[in-house]
Amino acid sequence: MSDALSTELLNRLGIAADQSGVYCGGWQAAHGPPLVSTNPATGQPLGRVLTASREDYDRVAEQSGRAFVRWREMPPPARGEVVRRLGEALRRHKQDLGLLVTLEVGKIRSEGLGEVQEMIDMCDFATGLSRQLHGLTIASERPRHRMFEQWHPLGPVGVITAFNFPVAVWAWNAALAAVCGDPVVWKPSPLAPLCAVAVQRIIDRELAEDALQGVFNLCLSHDAELGRWMAADRRLPLISATGSCAMGRSVAATVAARLGRVLLELGGNNAVVVTQSADLDLALRAVLFAAVGTAGQRCTTLRRLLLHESVAETMIERLVAAYGSIPSGEPWRDDVLLGPLISQQAVERMLAAVDAIRVQGGQILAGGQRLERPGYFVQPTLARVRPDLPIVAEETFAPILYVMTYRDLDEAIAIQNGVDQGLSSAIFTDRVREAEQFLSPAGSDCGIANVNIGTSGAEIGGAFGGEKDTGGGREAGSDAWKAYMRRQTCTVNYGHSLPLAQGVRFEIP
Ligand code: NAD
Repeated sequence: MSDALSTELLNRLGIAADQSGVYCGGWQAAHGPPLVSTNPATGQPLGRVLTASREDYDRVAEQSGRAFVRWREMPPPARGEVVRRLGEALRRHKQDLGLLVTLEVGKIRSEGLGEVQEMIDMCDFATGLSRQLHGLTIASERPRHRMFEQWHPLGPVGVITAFNFPVAVWAWNAALAAVCGDPVVWKPSPLAPLCAVAVQRIIDRELAEDALQGVFNLCLSHDAELGRWMAADRRLPLISATGSCAMGRSVAATVAARLGRVLLELGGNNAVVVTQSADLDLALRAVLFAAVGTAGQRCTTLRRLLLHESVAETMIERLVAAYGSIPSGEPWRDDVLLGPLISQQAVERMLAAVDAIRVQGGQILAGGQRLERPGYFVQPTLARVRPDLPIVAEETFAPILYVMTYRDLDEAIAIQNGVDQGLSSAIFTDRVREAEQFLSPAGSDCGIANVNIGTSGAEIGGAFGGEKDTGGGREAGSDAWKAYMRRQTCTVNYGHSLPLAQGVRFEIP
């Protein structure tokens, strides 16, 4: 895509040259260092934004606290109406915002658009939810007493996001937080600042009434320091952080030290088990999307393929053929399925992992190289390994698929569960017993377990997240909203006596 076309896109989205990356009830002066955003498909700069200094951040945190006091008083369905309008605005800007995702992080066009669709879906979901923030009524053991629980807004939520879902993860958090009565302070990845500014521009242009000021806030940083300030900041009772396990460990320790709350969505090391009875055509298609889609840069990317030894050679042969014919190139072209990695460092990390595979005794079956062209392109890579190689335990954020074999399902489940991360997993089988064993308490230990579906591409209606080193958080659908509220248990005595629970007597003589 030419420079002129990308400049035109930024203009349509209202992103100025040297645009401020600090927003709180309007665009604020930003006093931190400038940050250059790069198009990973060309390696060329896309735009430059200004980042927040410590003082800028403090102002945003302070103002979001003031906004909370107003916002929590608004009835939840009225807050839902605001989120509904946000969804409408996103619908209007879907094409442009989706294209910006493609330009800034290298997702292919349909995935860039899919990401904006996910934001819209979240807004729709949250709008309905705004009328359903319900608590339980609980039977009281005391006569003429009523016991119930209710959910109240929590306070400003710090949202730290990763580069690979530069807008959708914000929406997972912001749409729910907003209907729950919480303002959001967003720290996006320094690798995707323009996407964040574009979202904030849409909010600024389409939802700028006084009552909303300070509800959706943005603070851009050129590094991770701002995230550390947020983690330590008691003005943010909840930190929702998406990123690597290393980041999660740091955030969790800092927030725990102030007894705050975290919602962590961290790295995965996801596996698919292909059994003897599997529909191999289906499995092959699912494996290709899950392993190669998004250039292997999803938290749910398929990283480990566990093949029953009876189907291994057939599957490997078909995979090697498919890996050789995946169209890669500029992600905005319609015929491309594999875009670039996010940065030069990401390419180097992938090449280091390929070296480690060889050194540790694995065999590269396909790919393994960088493409000699501008931008950060690599070949999709297939490696045959033993499950116990140290490199297999790591999440290398690139399109490397480790293939290994197993003899029986117990062994496959043990391999699948034998890593520190616990995000997504799947089994391909036509036998109900195998599927149910995989889903049983002794089966997959992940937050997501699928049958005859790959590991990536979750719908927003379910709660999304993972166990173990993936952090234990849940976002998006089901009852994930509860993380953004505080629970209050209430008992009302409508009688004239004061019976005590557990039969305790306390009569003053
Ligand atoms: P990253 O950990 O490098 O950065 C993520 C965010 O955290 C960025 O905004 C970064 O500036 C910030 N950050 C980094 N260190 C921090 C610290 N010590 N304190 C506070 N903030 C800090 O991750 P990335 O490279 O942007 O994204 C890829 C990673 O994110 C992968 O591990 C991937 O699996 C994970 N991810 C997980 C999910 C999920 O839902 N589980 C979703 C997307 C990405």
